[in-house]
Amino acid sequence: MIKTQAYAAYRADEPLKPFHFDYPAIKPNEVAIDILYCGICHSDVHSSRNEWGGANYPMVPGHEVLGRVREVGGDVKKFHVGDIVGVGCLVGSCQQCSECADGLEQYCDNQIFTYNSHSERFNRVTYGGYATHIVVDEHFVLSIPEGMDLAKTAPLLCAGITVYSPLRHWNVGPQHRIGIVGLGGLGHVAVKIARAMGAHVVVFTTSESKAKEAMLLGAHEVVFSKDRVSMEGHQNSLNFILNTVAAPHDIDPYLLLLKRDGVIVFVGLPSENHPSPYIGNLIFKRRMMAGSLIGGIKETQEMLNFCAEHDITADVEIISMDYVNQAYDRVVSNEVKYRFVIDMSTLKSAQ
Ligand SMILES: [Zn+2]
Ligand SMILES: [Zn+2]
Repeated sequence: MIKTQAYAAYRADEPLKPFHFDYPAIKPNEVAIDILYCGICHSDVHSSRNEWGGANYPMVPGHEVLGRVREVGGDVKKFHVGDIVGVGCLVGSCQQCSECADGLEQYCDNQIFTYNSHSERFNRVTYGGYATHIVVDEHFVLSIPEGMDLAKTAPLLCAGITVYSPLRHWNVGPQHRIGIVGLGGLGHVAVKIARAMGAHVVVFTTSESKAKEAMLLGAHEVVFSKDRVSMEGHQNSLNFILNTVAAPHDIDPYLLLLKRDGVIVFVGLPSENHPSPYIGNLIFKRRMMAGSLIGGIKETQEMLNFCAEHDITADVEIISMDYVNQAYDRVVSNEVKYRFVIDMSTLKSAQ
């Protein structure tokens, strides 16, 4: 049994508070992890506050989990006590369907998310990374390449893979001019990864103060999306757009930026939908709209290795556990550059 301290949401309209629970003795295929850092994803805020529906309380959020292996089950092959490892958004899937066979566990109809998902194993919902420990099936544990800054690597486990997967799926490379819409937790990592893939990167932001920062992160150009003249100047110029903005907004100005056969991919799920775009903007240039959800385990490992090779991590503000409620408010008002990461060693003192 592993006694675990955590922070949990007890209701949609209350701040997170301390919470305690136990993990049972691990099974032969499982890895027990001492959590060192956990990123705060915008999804954690949506989920804690039940903005997408389906919340189960108490809810222990957190799916950007970085830690050290504390114990391994007898059948575990890939990991040893002391290894630095990560856990992202998924901790289980059926392992039998075609999605799982293709290494796309995120699209399995029976996937188990890291928190707020029903777990037969634990006979409760899953509890995430705002905790001192987590116990996970070996298959869903990632190796963290040596030499990476651990706090800055944590956000790659959701933000990183969420942007890497569509960039890879649509084979973004040096032959492409691409747009990144929104420069937050997802967007800032997307700029770094797309740049490392060799693409010409144009950032679209509503915040003038972010223009200089976008260039420092590796963008070739920045466009204020509220500036109509500048937006029109970029029409029919991009092969691919990654839209990271989850707040409802008008899609048409972005569709018009795409060349013939260009694709715009959405990775942010708004709590209220975007207004429907004008279908003519798709038809007349054979443009495409698509969505993408995080990434599979194999691809997440590939992303971590790619980021290690290209020296890519997230820009983070490290906080103590008892700051989480203020951090949530700052995530909502977009006042973080660019990801909060909780130092889990502060959890005990926060109780
Ligand atoms: Zn996330
Ligand atoms: Zn499956």
